Amino acid sequence: MARPLVEPRLVVASHNPGKVAEIADLLAGHAIAVVAAGDLDLAEPDETETSFAANALLKARAAAEAANLPALADDSGLVVPALDGAPGIRSARWAGPERDFGRAMAELERRLQAACPDGVLAPAHFTCVLALAWPDGHGETFTGTVHGRLTFPPRGDRGFGYDPVFIPDGHGITFGEMDPARKHAISHRALAFAELTAACLPAHGDRARA
Ligand code: IMP
Repeated sequence: MARPLVEPRLVVASHNPGKVAEIADLLAGHAIAVVAAGDLDLAEPDETETSFAANALLKARAAAEAANLPALADDSGLVVPALDGAPGIRSARWAGPERDFGRAMAELERRLQAACPDGVLAPAHFTCVLALAWPDGHGETFTGTVHGRLTFPPRGDRGFGYDPVFIPDGHGITFGEMDPARKHAISHRALAFAELTAACLPAHGDRARA
Protein backbone atom coordinates (compact mmCIF):
# COMPACT_ATOMS: atom_id res chain seq x y z
CA MET A 1 0.00 0.00 0.00
CA ALA A 2 1.25 3.52 -0.80
CA ARG A 3 2.32 5.78 2.06
CA PRO A 4 -0.39 8.40 2.77
CA LEU A 5 0.59 12.06 2.64
CA VAL A 6 -0.46 13.40 6.05
CA GLU A 7 1.94 16.36 6.29
CA PRO A 8 0.33 19.81 5.89
CA ARG A 9 3.03 21.19 3.54
CA LEU A 10 4.42 19.95 0.27
CA VAL A 11 7.24 21.23 -1.96
CA VAL A 12 6.57 21.20 -5.68
CA ALA A 13 9.96 20.28 -7.13
CA SER A 14 9.68 22.40 -10.26
CA HIS A 15 11.04 25.80 -11.24
CA ASN A 16 8.33 26.17 -13.88
CA PRO A 17 5.67 28.56 -12.47
CA GLY A 18 3.03 27.05 -14.82
CA LYS A 19 3.61 23.56 -13.43
CA VAL A 20 3.59 24.81 -9.82
CA ALA A 21 0.27 26.61 -10.44
CA GLU A 22 -1.23 23.54 -12.15
CA ILE A 23 -0.22 21.27 -9.24
CA ALA A 24 -1.47 23.77 -6.65
CA ASP A 25 -4.80 23.75 -8.53
CA LEU A 26 -4.96 19.97 -8.52
CA LEU A 27 -4.27 19.95 -4.76
CA ALA A 28 -6.95 22.53 -3.96
CA GLY A 29 -9.45 20.87 -1.65
CA HIS A 30 -6.86 18.65 0.01
CA ALA A 31 -5.80 21.15 2.73
CA ILE A 32 -2.11 20.98 1.77
CA ALA A 33 -0.03 24.16 1.53
CA VAL A 34 2.11 24.15 -1.60
CA VAL A 35 5.61 25.67 -1.60
CA ALA A 36 7.54 26.09 -4.85
CA ALA A 37 11.13 24.80 -5.01
CA GLY A 38 12.16 28.16 -6.49
CA ASP A 39 10.80 30.03 -3.45
CA LEU A 40 13.06 27.91 -1.21
CA ASP A 41 16.05 28.49 -3.52
CA LEU A 42 16.43 24.74 -4.04
CA ALA A 43 18.89 23.72 -6.75
CA GLU A 44 17.50 21.91 -9.80
CA PRO A 45 19.22 18.51 -10.19
CA ASP A 46 20.27 17.28 -13.66
CA GLU A 47 17.88 14.70 -15.10
CA THR A 48 20.51 11.98 -15.42
CA GLU A 49 18.26 8.89 -15.31
CA THR A 50 16.92 6.88 -18.25
CA SER A 51 13.19 6.68 -17.46
CA PHE A 52 10.41 9.14 -16.64
CA ALA A 53 9.88 7.46 -13.24
CA ALA A 54 13.54 7.54 -12.23
CA ASN A 55 13.91 11.19 -13.28
CA ALA A 56 10.74 12.19 -11.42
CA LEU A 57 11.94 10.37 -8.29
CA LEU A 58 15.39 11.93 -8.53
CA LYS A 59 13.84 15.44 -8.60
CA ALA A 60 11.35 14.69 -5.79
CA ARG A 61 14.00 13.08 -3.53
CA ALA A 62 16.46 15.95 -4.00
CA ALA A 63 13.81 18.53 -3.06
CA ALA A 64 12.47 16.50 -0.11
CA GLU A 65 15.93 16.09 1.35
CA ALA A 66 16.91 19.74 0.84
CA ALA A 67 13.64 21.18 2.19
CA ASN A 68 13.02 18.51 4.85
CA LEU A 69 9.44 18.31 3.59
CA PRO A 70 7.58 15.86 1.34
CA ALA A 71 8.08 16.83 -2.30
CA LEU A 72 6.22 16.23 -5.56
CA ALA A 73 7.91 16.19 -8.97
CA ASP A 74 6.83 15.18 -12.44
CA ASP A 75 8.51 14.05 -15.59
CA SER A 76 6.68 13.71 -18.85
CA GLY A 77 7.09 13.47 -22.58
CA LEU A 78 5.97 12.14 -25.93
CA VAL A 79 6.77 8.52 -26.82
CA VAL A 80 6.76 7.31 -30.44
CA PRO A 81 7.16 3.51 -30.69
CA ALA A 82 8.14 3.74 -34.42
CA LEU A 83 11.13 5.82 -33.27
CA ASP A 84 12.13 3.40 -30.51
CA GLY A 85 10.40 5.60 -27.93
CA ALA A 86 11.94 8.95 -28.99
CA PRO A 87 11.75 11.76 -28.06
CA GLY A 88 10.69 10.23 -24.69
CA ILE A 89 12.67 11.54 -21.74
CA ARG A 90 14.43 13.91 -24.17
CA SER A 91 11.15 15.61 -25.24
CA ALA A 92 12.07 19.00 -23.76
CA ARG A 93 15.69 18.76 -24.96
CA TRP A 94 14.60 18.28 -28.61
CA ALA A 95 13.35 21.88 -28.50
CA GLY A 96 16.83 23.17 -27.61
CA PRO A 97 17.65 25.97 -25.17
CA GLU A 98 15.30 28.33 -27.09
CA ARG A 99 12.38 25.94 -26.35
CA ASP A 100 11.59 25.89 -30.09
CA PHE A 101 8.91 23.21 -30.44
CA GLY A 102 8.38 24.08 -34.12
CA ARG A 103 11.88 22.74 -34.62
CA ALA A 104 11.22 19.69 -32.40
CA MET A 105 8.04 18.82 -34.35
CA ALA A 106 9.86 19.24 -37.68
CA GLU A 107 12.56 16.85 -36.43
CA LEU A 108 9.85 14.38 -35.43
CA GLU A 109 8.31 14.54 -38.91
CA ARG A 110 11.71 14.14 -40.58
CA ARG A 111 12.59 11.07 -38.51
CA LEU A 112 9.14 9.52 -39.07
CA GLN A 113 9.41 10.02 -42.83
CA ALA A 114 12.75 8.22 -42.73
CA ALA A 115 11.40 5.41 -40.54
CA CYS A 116 7.99 5.04 -42.30
CA PRO A 117 8.39 6.20 -45.94
CA ASP A 118 4.80 5.04 -46.72
CA GLY A 119 3.47 7.86 -44.57
CA VAL A 120 1.80 5.62 -41.99
CA LEU A 121 0.05 7.67 -39.31
CA ALA A 122 2.25 6.95 -36.31
CA PRO A 123 0.76 5.82 -33.03
CA ALA A 124 2.20 7.75 -30.08
CA HIS A 125 1.47 8.44 -26.44
CA PHE A 126 2.12 11.09 -23.84
CA THR A 127 3.27 9.77 -20.47
CA CYS A 128 3.49 11.59 -17.16
CA VAL A 129 5.03 10.18 -14.00
CA LEU A 130 4.40 11.98 -10.72
CA ALA A 131 6.79 11.13 -7.89
CA LEU A 132 6.11 11.85 -4.25
CA ALA A 133 9.14 11.58 -1.94
CA TRP A 134 9.71 12.08 1.76
CA PRO A 135 12.85 13.36 3.55
CA ASP A 136 13.61 9.79 4.74
CA GLY A 137 14.04 8.76 1.09
CA HIS A 138 10.74 6.88 0.70
CA GLY A 139 9.18 7.45 -2.73
CA GLU A 140 5.99 6.59 -4.61
CA THR A 141 5.39 7.00 -8.36
CA PHE A 142 2.16 7.27 -10.33
CA THR A 143 1.90 7.03 -14.11
CA GLY A 144 -0.68 8.43 -16.53
CA THR A 145 -0.69 7.71 -20.26
CA VAL A 146 -2.85 9.08 -23.05
CA HIS A 147 -2.70 7.20 -26.35
CA GLY A 148 -3.21 8.69 -29.80
CA ARG A 149 -1.53 9.26 -33.15
CA LEU A 150 0.66 11.88 -34.78
CA THR A 151 -0.40 14.15 -37.62
CA PHE A 152 1.56 16.62 -39.77
CA PRO A 153 1.63 19.56 -40.34
CA PRO A 154 1.02 20.78 -36.76
CA ARG A 155 -2.52 22.08 -36.06
CA GLY A 156 -3.75 24.49 -33.38
CA ASP A 157 -2.12 26.97 -31.04
CA ARG A 158 -4.02 26.36 -27.81
CA GLY A 159 -1.55 24.03 -26.10
CA PHE A 160 2.20 23.74 -25.69
CA GLY A 161 5.06 21.43 -26.63
CA TYR A 162 4.01 18.65 -29.04
CA ASP A 163 0.26 19.31 -28.64
CA PRO A 164 -0.24 20.47 -32.28
CA VAL A 165 0.82 17.08 -33.75
CA PHE A 166 -0.98 14.77 -31.31
CA ILE A 167 -4.57 13.52 -31.84
CA PRO A 168 -5.78 11.63 -28.76
CA ASP A 169 -7.71 8.39 -29.39
CA GLY A 170 -11.46 8.97 -29.70
CA HIS A 171 -11.00 12.55 -30.95
CA GLY A 172 -10.63 14.11 -34.40
CA ILE A 173 -8.61 17.18 -33.35
CA THR A 174 -5.13 17.71 -31.95
CA PHE A 175 -4.44 18.68 -28.34
CA GLY A 176 -3.34 22.01 -29.83
CA GLU A 177 -6.86 22.59 -31.21
CA MET A 178 -8.68 21.35 -28.12
CA ASP A 179 -10.27 23.49 -25.43
CA PRO A 180 -7.62 23.43 -22.66
CA ALA A 181 -10.18 22.40 -20.02
CA ARG A 182 -11.10 19.40 -22.17
CA LYS A 183 -7.44 18.47 -22.61
CA HIS A 184 -6.75 18.79 -18.89
CA ALA A 185 -9.65 16.44 -18.13
CA ILE A 186 -8.19 13.60 -20.23
CA SER A 187 -4.46 14.29 -20.14
CA HIS A 188 -1.65 12.01 -18.97
CA ARG A 189 -1.03 14.49 -16.11
CA ALA A 190 -4.67 14.31 -14.93
CA LEU A 191 -4.58 10.50 -15.05
CA ALA A 192 -1.34 10.35 -13.03
CA PHE A 193 -2.76 12.81 -10.54
CA ALA A 194 -5.95 10.74 -10.13
CA GLU A 195 -3.75 7.72 -9.26
CA LEU A 196 -1.78 9.76 -6.72
CA THR A 197 -4.94 11.18 -5.14
CA ALA A 198 -6.54 7.76 -4.78
CA ALA A 199 -3.40 6.23 -3.26
CA CYS A 200 -1.94 8.95 -1.04
CA LEU A 201 -4.35 11.81 -0.39
CA PRO A 202 -7.07 11.31 2.16
CA ALA A 203 -10.25 13.23 1.32
CA HIS A 204 -10.35 16.73 2.81
CA GLY A 205 -12.88 15.69 5.48
CA ASP A 206 -10.74 12.72 6.56
CA ARG A 207 -7.69 14.98 6.89
CA ALA A 208 -9.66 17.49 8.99
CA ARG A 209 -10.79 14.64 11.27
CA ALA A 210 -7.33 13.07 11.52
P1 IMP B 1 9.68 17.91 -18.41
O1 IMP B 1 9.30 19.28 -17.96
O2 IMP B 1 11.11 17.56 -18.28
O3 IMP B 1 8.78 16.86 -17.83
O4 IMP B 1 9.47 17.93 -20.00
C1 IMP B 1 8.29 17.53 -20.56
C2 IMP B 1 8.33 17.82 -22.05
O5 IMP B 1 7.50 16.86 -22.67
C3 IMP B 1 7.71 19.16 -22.37
O6 IMP B 1 8.68 20.15 -22.53
C4 IMP B 1 7.00 18.89 -23.69
O7 IMP B 1 7.94 18.94 -24.71
C5 IMP B 1 6.60 17.45 -23.58
N1 IMP B 1 5.23 17.33 -23.05
C6 IMP B 1 4.88 16.81 -21.84
N2 IMP B 1 3.55 16.88 -21.66
C7 IMP B 1 3.06 17.47 -22.78
C8 IMP B 1 1.74 17.84 -23.17
O8 IMP B 1 0.74 17.68 -22.46
N3 IMP B 1 1.64 18.43 -24.38
C9 IMP B 1 2.70 18.65 -25.19
N4 IMP B 1 3.93 18.33 -24.87
C10 IMP B 1 4.13 17.74 -23.66
